Amino acid sequence: MNAEQLRQIFINFFVEYKHVEISGRSVIPENDPTVLFTTAGMHPLVPYLRGEIHPAGKRLVNIQKCIRTGDIESVGDAYHLTFFEMMGNWSLGDYFKQEMIAMSYEFLTSPQYLGIDPALIHVTVFAGDKDVPRDEESARYWMQAGIPEERIYFLGREDNWWGPAGQTGPCGPDSEMFLDTKSVACSENCRPGCSCGKYVEIWNDVFMQYDKQIDNSYLPLVQKNIDTGMGLERTLYLLTGKKNVYETELFTPILRRLEEISGKQYTGNDADVQTRAFRVIADHIKAATMIMADDKGVRPSNVGQGYILRRLIRRAIRYAKKIDIEKPFLVDLADIVLEMYRDRYPEMMSRKNFVHQELQAEEEQFMRTLQQGEREFIKMLPGLLKNPQREMSGRLAFKLYDTYGFPIELTEELAKEHELTVNRSEFEQAFEKHQNTSKAGSDKIFKGGLADDSITSTRYHTATHLLNEALRRILGDG
Ligand code: ATP
Ligand code: MG
Ligand code: MG
Ligand code: MG
Repeated sequence: MNAEQLRQIFINFFVEYKHVEISGRSVIPENDPTVLFTTAGMHPLVPYLRGEIHPAGKRLVNIQKCIRTGDIESVGDAYHLTFFEMMGNWSLGDYFKQEMIAMSYEFLTSPQYLGIDPALIHVTVFAGDKDVPRDEESARYWMQAGIPEERIYFLGREDNWWGPAGQTGPCGPDSEMFLDTKSVACSENCRPGCSCGKYVEIWNDVFMQYDKQIDNSYLPLVQKNIDTGMGLERTLYLLTGKKNVYETELFTPILRRLEEISGKQYTGNDADVQTRAFRVIADHIKAATMIMADDKGVRPSNVGQGYILRRLIRRAIRYAKKIDIEKPFLVDLADIVLEMYRDRYPEMMSRKNFVHQELQAEEEQFMRTLQQGEREFIKMLPGLLKNPQREMSGRLAFKLYDTYGFPIELTEELAKEHELTVNRSEFEQAFEKHQNTSKAGSDKIFKGGLADDSITSTRYHTATHLLNEALRRILGDG
């Protein structure tokens, strides 16, 4: 099985169940200024989930390019990426839980489709709380399909609830499907949802069945919907017996090239410090290329998507230094990415020149910034090491940012390498003060930092919510 076969098999399965294939949309959301990137297949479908009639009907299936910078801190583990493809299907007021769970089980286990050993499948369902009853229905349907009770786990809102927090409107429980990788359990309590990696979530079925009211009551939703999302890269690595996404064809060409450029070997050994650097670079260059080569592609800048893009590129450059890459390398890798996706997303090729130009310019500029910032940090170091708290003041970190454009995250990384911390809240204060005095009235400039690095904990599956949250934090009003 290769990536394209997996995409096709997903589409075909749902087409057989009378779904219409619709095309995926841009990674830059259309007509939605409240969010920066498309983070899930459901995102472009929000109006239809809210009741608008979709021209293609009530049963839809597609593959959507997604960007989740909220997962940036996890990149380097076996299965969290900042760019991934989500395969999804929808029922807009058509079939519901029972049919969806039966279809999920069939797709996963039937030899005609994924043919996964049922004994490896574990599922989670919503445990209920004071406001909403336990999702016994889903548990029952899973058992009817063939999952024994001991592999069905009832978890809380953190894991099995979909819907904007604190807001009114459509919401509901979801049910996640995990595969047991057969690695050793981290503890006796290890179960799906545990971050140790023994159980990998591959698919999520969302059951939109409630309409949350202002008084916190939950009424049945008039149009009940199904929204599902399955990660292509994760599913592929598990199906092909690989250890992680980086061993699949969706990453090996990038890593090979990176080995050539760096002269270092990618061992793939998790304990090896360079492994993470290789993975982060490969992930970020792919995400950056996808953002730039998109038909609504953006260029690196200090605002909005351009800022996140700049962060991805600069972080890749920073990690490249960890494997001793000192020369420009991004264009080379971007070409591998474009090549890898040329059949699936042919439109990207037409933006090749743009991608080259922008990467080159950004790389040159950032190399200069880095050299200068690191030099200044090293000058400060003897003084910093004298501090018994081993803390760098936010004021000094801000000086690096303000005078040399050196990003706070990089200051933090450098500090960490010398067992120092940075007083982040002091930095933020200095930043805000600076914003108020010099940037008053200007466009939304993101706080010196990085939004993308600071939204890792939210587990809401709604794209809108995720990104609103990110924006709120970035803009500092929350
Ligand atoms: P996880 O708990 O592993 O972070 P999730 O619950 O946040 O995943 P969903 O929002 O349910 O993910 O998205 C649906 C599917 O998309 C997941 O089941 C997974 O297969 C895939 N997916 C989600 N986040 C990522 C990511 N960062 N990289 C690759 N695939 C992802
Ligand atoms: Mg999850
Ligand atoms: Mg999920
Ligand atoms: Mg997640």
